[in-house]
Amino acid sequence: MARIIVVGAGMAGLAAAARLAARGHSVLVCEAGHTVGGTLGSWQYDGLIFDTGAYTLTLPAAYRDLFIKTGSRKRSAAAALEDRVELRALDPVRRYLFPDGTRLDLPNASRGRLHAAFDEALGTGAGQSWLNIVDHGSRVWDTIRPVLVEAPGSGERELARLLRTAAGRRVLTPLRSLRSVAGRWFTDPRLFLLLDDYARQAGAGADARRAPGVLAAHIYIEHAFGAWQIVGGMYTLAEELRLRVLERGAEIRYGARAIRIERSASGAVSGVLLADGERIAADIVVAGVDQAVLTRMLDQPSVKTQYSAPVGTLCLVVQDPPTMPHETVLLDQSGPALRVHVAGERPTAWTVHVPGVTDAQLDADGVLDTLAARGIDVRRKVLARHAITAADREAATGAPGGSAYGPAVTSLRTALLRSPVRQPVTGLFHVGASARLGGGLSFAALSAWQAAELITGA
Ligand SMILES: Cc1cc2nc3c(=O)[nH]c(=O)nc-3n(C[C@H](O)[C@H](O)[C@H](O)COP(=O)(O)OP(=O)(O)OC[C@H]3O[C@@H](n4cnc5c(N)ncnc54)[C@H](O)[C@@H]3O)c2cc1C
Repeated sequence: MARIIVVGAGMAGLAAAARLAARGHSVLVCEAGHTVGGTLGSWQYDGLIFDTGAYTLTLPAAYRDLFIKTGSRKRSAAAALEDRVELRALDPVRRYLFPDGTRLDLPNASRGRLHAAFDEALGTGAGQSWLNIVDHGSRVWDTIRPVLVEAPGSGERELARLLRTAAGRRVLTPLRSLRSVAGRWFTDPRLFLLLDDYARQAGAGADARRAPGVLAAHIYIEHAFGAWQIVGGMYTLAEELRLRVLERGAEIRYGARAIRIERSASGAVSGVLLADGERIAADIVVAGVDQAVLTRMLDQPSVKTQYSAPVGTLCLVVQDPPTMPHETVLLDQSGPALRVHVAGERPTAWTVHVPGVTDAQLDADGVLDTLAARGIDVRRKVLARHAITAADREAATGAPGGSAYGPAVTSLRTALLRSPVRQPVTGLFHVGASARLGGGLSFAALSAWQAAELITGA
């Protein structure tokens, strides 16, 4: 059995550690910070827990599989995902407020209700238009799933093979944007605003209008497999995964910042050097960190890479709050949307995600004024506030500029190929938002599954 170091205790690193420890390897997780979960962060105030990062789980099957496969015969460690956290289907998934005042509550995982909600909010025909892009996303997912998602080690060659066929090109639309694909069915400009919002949430570059057509898969995944909240806060998922890692015999070390991945004379991985000077030997290193951090740890020259937009977050304690859905998105004609997250069972704990905030201080009053102008006036009800800037995120995770979803998705290649899970250095694997298949909690868990499969089969 191999000695494995996992760098980073974000969701991808933890998922990889749990799987590898369950397969009998000796696993040590080195985490630079003092908690697990990474970008999926939390803030506590007066007994209230705020989700400061992710707050919606899509494709929960990735975590169901993880908990089942890492369960042991010991009863305490055998529990399935649903025994450890309470998953609640969101309905509505979120509320969209359009610049013209139109309101759309997005129903969860129901074609009929989806059709009706779009027609009612945006006019007859909007429902069918949206279902057309969902169905296109379904074809994209069906095409990439067996070849790139459920196929550890796949990459350039498999994508090239898909693109050699007319059917593959028709579905993957290598040269077309999501907007251009949807243009076949959409006429209402408000539908394009929605499309841009999905693209940004999937890690689009600075101009979401140019995001690649393949991102339709994200729309399909949300509609087909549903959107879920974790009762008590998303952080509970990270905490349960931490326990599973420990139950399977792996160790987690905090305050352990890796600064170099060391190699033997043959070029293969030989261990990790920590910032305090300690050297830890390993046969395999799994890097659950941003691509820029990995590049630095390999002493490689940094490559100029476009990153997905940063997000600043404002936690607000709101007294006598109005009833709010899990997420409200204030769509804006000119760019990214402000998002308000309020968990049903913690209605006074609000997190407002403000896109594109790169300065050191979030303008909390300006954000509250914007909310009020769009009909959500809580200016006199805020008891406490706490800001997390993009700079804080960059300091915590190492993602350049505090980017929320890693390197930007600007093309078919940056969507599907990203940093390979099996790296060109023998014994080195990369998981998480920078790696295949990109950002989001479930894709992070899927990349960890790929790494575990490759390591076990290696
Ligand atoms: C505001 C916001 C909202 C989001 N909402 C959602 C959502 O609703 N649903 C969803 O699915 N996704 C969402 N995401 C995205 C999702 O949170 C991330 O894609 C995912 O958590 C990334 O996990 P990761 O394990 O790849 O990386 P990270 O979470 O970045 O973890 C990396 C870990 O590595 C550690 N580390 C870094 N450098 C070192 C080093 N040198 N040595 C040791 N440790 C190191 C860091 O401290 C960190 O713990 C959101 C993100 C943001 C910012």
